[in-house]
Amino acid sequence: AKFVYDFTEGNKDLKDLLGGKGANLAEMTNLGLPVPPGFIITTEACKVYLDSGSEPAALRAEVSEHLEALEQKMGKKLGQADDPLLVSVRSGAKFSMPGMMDTVLNIGLSDASVSGLAAQAGDERFAWDSYRRLIQMFGKTVLGVDGELFEEALEEAKQAKGVRVDIDLDAKDLQGLVAHFKDIVAKQTGRDFPQEPREQMDLAVRAVFDSWNTDRAKLYRRQERIPGDLGTAVNVCSMVFGNLGPDSGTGVAFTRDPASGQQGVYGDYLQNAQGEDVVAGIRNTVPLADLEQIDKASYDELMQIMETLETHYRDLCDIEFTIERGKLWMLQTRVGKRTAGAAFRIATQLVDQGLIDEAEALQRVNGAQLAQLMFPRFDLGAKSEMIGRGIAASPGAAVGKAVFDSYTAVKWSRSGEKVILIRRETNPDDLNGMIAAEGILTSRGGKTSHAAVVARGMGKTCVCGAEELEVDTKARRMTTNGTVIEEGDVVSIDGSTGKVYAGEVPVVPSPVVEYFEGRMHAGADDADELVKAVHRIMAYADRVRRLRVRANADNAEDAARARRFGAQGIGLCRTEHMFLGERREMVERLILADTETDRDAALSELLPLQKADFIELFESMDGLPVTVRLLDPPLHEFLPDITELSVRVALAEARKDANENDLRLLQAVHKLHESNPMLGLRGVRLGLVIPGLFAMQVRAIAEAAAERKNAKGDPRAEVMIPLVGTVQELEIVREEAEQVIAEVEKAHGVDLKLTLGTMIELPRAALTAGQIAESADFFSFGTNDLTQTVWGFSRDDVEASFFTAYLEKGIFGVSPFETIDKDGVGSLVRNAAAAGRATRPDLKLGVCGEHGGDPESVHFFHEAGLDYVSCSPFRIPVARLEAGRAAA
Ligand code: ADP
Ligand code: MG
Ligand code: MG
Repeated sequence: AKFVYDFTEGNKDLKDLLGGKGANLAEMTNLGLPVPPGFIITTEACKVYLDSGSEPAALRAEVSEHLEALEQKMGKKLGQADDPLLVSVRSGAKFSMPGMMDTVLNIGLSDASVSGLAAQAGDERFAWDSYRRLIQMFGKTVLGVDGELFEEALEEAKQAKGVRVDIDLDAKDLQGLVAHFKDIVAKQTGRDFPQEPREQMDLAVRAVFDSWNTDRAKLYRRQERIPGDLGTAVNVCSMVFGNLGPDSGTGVAFTRDPASGQQGVYGDYLQNAQGEDVVAGIRNTVPLADLEQIDKASYDELMQIMETLETHYRDLCDIEFTIERGKLWMLQTRVGKRTAGAAFRIATQLVDQGLIDEAEALQRVNGAQLAQLMFPRFDLGAKSEMIGRGIAASPGAAVGKAVFDSYTAVKWSRSGEKVILIRRETNPDDLNGMIAAEGILTSRGGKTSHAAVVARGMGKTCVCGAEELEVDTKARRMTTNGTVIEEGDVVSIDGSTGKVYAGEVPVVPSPVVEYFEGRMHAGADDADELVKAVHRIMAYADRVRRLRVRANADNAEDAARARRFGAQGIGLCRTEHMFLGERREMVERLILADTETDRDAALSELLPLQKADFIELFESMDGLPVTVRLLDPPLHEFLPDITELSVRVALAEARKDANENDLRLLQAVHKLHESNPMLGLRGVRLGLVIPGLFAMQVRAIAEAAAERKNAKGDPRAEVMIPLVGTVQELEIVREEAEQVIAEVEKAHGVDLKLTLGTMIELPRAALTAGQIAESADFFSFGTNDLTQTVWGFSRDDVEASFFTAYLEKGIFGVSPFETIDKDGVGSLVRNAAAAGRATRPDLKLGVCGEHGGDPESVHFFHEAGLDYVSCSPFRIPVARLEAGRAAA
């Protein structure tokens, strides 16, 4: 294998091999953009190293070969004493992991070459500044020295001189600092700072490989669902210098606003600075627009390049650049992270610009982003106390208790508190706290600061750079314009406006929900840009999708909302919800009935009530299918709790006034008590042992449909039998149901065209689906129960007990209750669908349960050839969008 690629050899499609940074550096090189020459060590080399503990044997020679070529091109040798070639050694994995892994600049500098560098540049100060940076970065990331020690030494040097910022230190001060840094290295590591340039480089490469497996990198990958075995590439890039005086500098930029998608000039620039200085908040950056005044030629060239990149990548790009004495250099680009709202807006803007088509636009957004846009916003009309304002870095309305360190954020959120993490600025060590928090608030840093970039990536609310806030992390408080917020005080932050409030601000629905509800029209002139974009994207999705989307709903109100949200019917109406409230007593009477007469009486009490529910439901879904599931849960769920009732009866008995009904109830509760209710008397089993129960429900459905028909409605009821394991169960229920339906049809003089089907939610049902289809007009995969029974674990118990451990150990990337387990449960679904259709080619196939609204699962159901998914009303837009993305 080839382990090293020159920048001129790669391209943007080689991200797996060259990492994102390397692939894009190569792409820019080949576009003719000004990229300092260099080469890339592949992720394959990293994987060999991580697996075996040492670099592949061929690597050293390949690196030497590419290094020599680079030296030839640059006309100087790495670390050459009179004119040193310096390089950066930079990490870069397939997926960007901001700040998670290591980069070392100025490799090649040593006691021998520092004066050569100074002479070449004609700048002593610059050379010593570069050297102290090398020792600092190398010491920390390669040799594992505590970075604080260098920070403190730098701080001391500034104090000794009585200055505030690093650029006020002169060559002499920096030379002293270098000596001090070298001492620190020697003391902490027991060895001298390595003077041999190639050794510096090799150690740095290895450190980058190692940084793939730091705790924070692992945590970030879990959070972002990035596989753990990809490894990182390493980029060796010849240095250009932004720290060569005021006509030099370094910056970051976006080709459009990553928060709104608006086109314009967005970025930060810092004069006389190197590398991380911009994002680390060491000195105050200036807005990128100011570069036009500072260095017009470079500014114009940068604008030109940004346009080239946008057109070339057909997407928003973010960029890192450096200016060395008036010469612009591109150091990085990638398709940039953006907020959910910006993703929709940018996708439609790019369609309008003719850069992408509608199918591509659908790939540029996703259901998770849409779900995020449906979260509530702060109510601007409500009384609120604004205490500060920062940069709107990542939208959302977050309310929580103020905490000032990540440890507390994690601790409090574990105990169920909502927290806002407040920091002066965040760094990669804050990742845990950021994940735990509802929102993140910082007093320093811009749209490109660590907090902003990471929060946007996580879809978390963030306000950054709120400069009026004085954050005192040691005292755990912040002060702003006279208001003091202590740890534990509630604050509200608005990531869409940057406003910060004391106390809890009430929330209102998002404009996107208002749009889906039909209360806001995308066509209106003053319609929100975001709503317009969502409207267009949803139209693309609806045009191409094959999967239909239905709702899980069991009352007219939910059904009506579902319809507004685009539901094409009801895929699951749970009838047990119709047995609650005051009707529970009737169910109690049914359970306690020990004669046929009593039972019939109880059932006929329930019949008209059920029927009335169905009439409403069929009316609100007129013309669309409504799948009604017959009673599913174990009966004891309708009875009082066994312990409570036992105590009540025992007390009453002690007082000698036990009541007859309670005693019978207690008996029934005992009789129905099960140690594994999930696997007990429920579903079709209930229908088979409680005479008349299912017949009553079917009659209620049929009579409701008949009434709707006679009222000129168009009811399309489907009767669904739950928890079937064998076709015999279904046959018995079916026979009884057909008889009832025929009676009702005859009595009302109508043809109801009711269909009868079953849920496939037990492994046996899936395995014998071919037989079951003989007796079913449709299958609806109940993937919640199917997941429980296939894995043999009960959701209510395992999520709390061992799922966290399983997720941490990487046994699951995600809970199988959230995203369908394709290999296990999914393969049963596929086989059952095929077997069912083999028996009955017109068999209708759907899925109900949580997975119906989960983006990844929707793609799976599309591929498995199902006809529809059914999910809760609020997930319908997400399912529509994902069904469109799956088909596009
Ligand atoms: P990250 O992945 O954390 O962004 P990078 O490898 O991009 O790390 O390095 C961080 C910064 O270091 C870059 O944005 C750039 O400013 C600076 N840098 C890296 N390589 C060079 C180089 N060859 N010349 C000058 N600056 C560099
Ligand atoms: Mg970078
Ligand atoms: Mg079920």
